[in-house]
Amino acid sequence: METVMRNFFLFLSKNRGLTKVAKRYGLKFGAARFVAGETIELASEAIRQLNNKGLDVTIDYLGEFVDNAAEANEMAENSIKAIEAIGRERLQSQLSLKMTSMGLDISDALVMNNMRRILEAAKKNDVFVTIDMEDYSRCGKTIEIFKKLREEYDNIGTVIQAYLYRTEEDIEDLNKYSPNLRLVKGAYKESPQVAFPEKKDVDENFKKIIKMHLLNGNYTAVATHDDAIIEYTKQLVEEHNIPLDQFEFQMLFGIRPERQLELANEGYKMRVYVPYGNDWYGYFMRRLAERPANVAFVLKGVIKK
Ligand code: FAD
Repeated sequence: METVMRNFFLFLSKNRGLTKVAKRYGLKFGAARFVAGETIELASEAIRQLNNKGLDVTIDYLGEFVDNAAEANEMAENSIKAIEAIGRERLQSQLSLKMTSMGLDISDALVMNNMRRILEAAKKNDVFVTIDMEDYSRCGKTIEIFKKLREEYDNIGTVIQAYLYRTEEDIEDLNKYSPNLRLVKGAYKESPQVAFPEKKDVDENFKKIIKMHLLNGNYTAVATHDDAIIEYTKQLVEEHNIPLDQFEFQMLFGIRPERQLELANEGYKMRVYVPYGNDWYGYFMRRLAERPANVAFVLKGVIKK
């Protein structure tokens, strides 16, 4: 049943028509639990509240299925506004963004131009930028963009997904860039030709790449809500005397907030991924796909109304 629901919500997440409709109607169906608001002002307020509790942030101006240059340029402008707000208001926040929102499906020149504009603004405001990882069909291209930009900028990292078979090779290949990587399980529906279908294999591969990347001496963000992976990381860093400033934990806004605080209070760097903007639909559907309890929460909200 869980697999059926997961596939159903992942199928919905890819619906361009619903994505467009959702943009017009504001945050609905309990999406506000996972999305900080539609404007940078609301997102800044959410960041401030998290910072006051000792939590760091990475902010994401939501955008999917961008299929024309004007929209991609507007997405880049909004990311630059977010960077300027972080600098101006002295918020403890990085920026995350998706290459499709910068024009990946349109042209390489467009993406590179938008990314360079963003990274220049980020450098000026001392903001670190992480390229989110999308579905498998965009993975190779996203890594190539990261490599090119990493040769020009220090303030950039990307994401590697444990569910892909190619991941171990990517970690080895990227090592020469000493990259700051966010490691995750992976959020998209992928075929067994490219990704481990079984959760236990994904978990094993997740542990393997956490160990590889940390022991290679690279900065590692372990992005998960899974206590087993968190415990594994804690033991690993203790065993190998890995300093606290070589890694961090990351979780999503609205998911396990009490656990986020516990980890911060234990002295670990804890970063919360805070999405905002009106293109909330695909992100929200992927969160519902991850956990049936999230669906129950949403249904309760809908029934009450
Ligand atoms: P899961 O296997 O979903 O959950 C494992 C266990 O965690 C559960 O069994 C439960 O014990 C516990 N748990 C989970 N949720 C809850 C809850 N609400 N309450 C209580 N316990 C809970 N994916 C990408 O593909 N690309 C990206 O760029 C990307 N960026 C991300 C950034 C961040 C900061 C995070 C946290 C995730 C990101 N993801 C990304 C999503 C990621 O790939 C997973 O889909 C998502 O994190 C769910 O996997 P999990 O590791 O949390 O473990």
